[in-house]
Amino acid sequence: MALEIIESCVNCYACEPLCPNQAIYQASPHFLIDADKCTECIGDFLDAQCASICPIEGAILTELGEPINPPGSLTGISLELLAKYQAAVEATYQAALAAKSA
Ligand code: SF4
Ligand code: SF4
Repeated sequence: MALEIIESCVNCYACEPLCPNQAIYQASPHFLIDADKCTECIGDFLDAQCASICPIEGAILTELGEPINPPGSLTGISLELLAKYQAAVEATYQAALAAKSA
């Protein structure tokens, strides 16, 4: 029973001091959670403190590999809207490339 920090962690240090079990530690290339120390905050807090403060969606996973803060949960941007803007950015980029090579 432990959470996991993955590569999208931006090493902001926000979570490390909040852990009641000192389970979070600085590592390279990103912070990690000691699975032997993490209790998922059960008994100490209602929510996992690390995930509660983490500003990056998807950076902290459950034991089943599911993001505690899934895409859109912090930004409020739906997956559909995000895909739409990503497509628009890509189209603009491709148009700029085409214009440069013309
Ligand atoms: S879930 Fe709680 S105990 Fe586990 S690493 Fe995060 S803050 Fe620490
Ligand atoms: S709060 Fe999130 S982004 Fe910041 S160090 Fe912890 S896991 Fe990484």
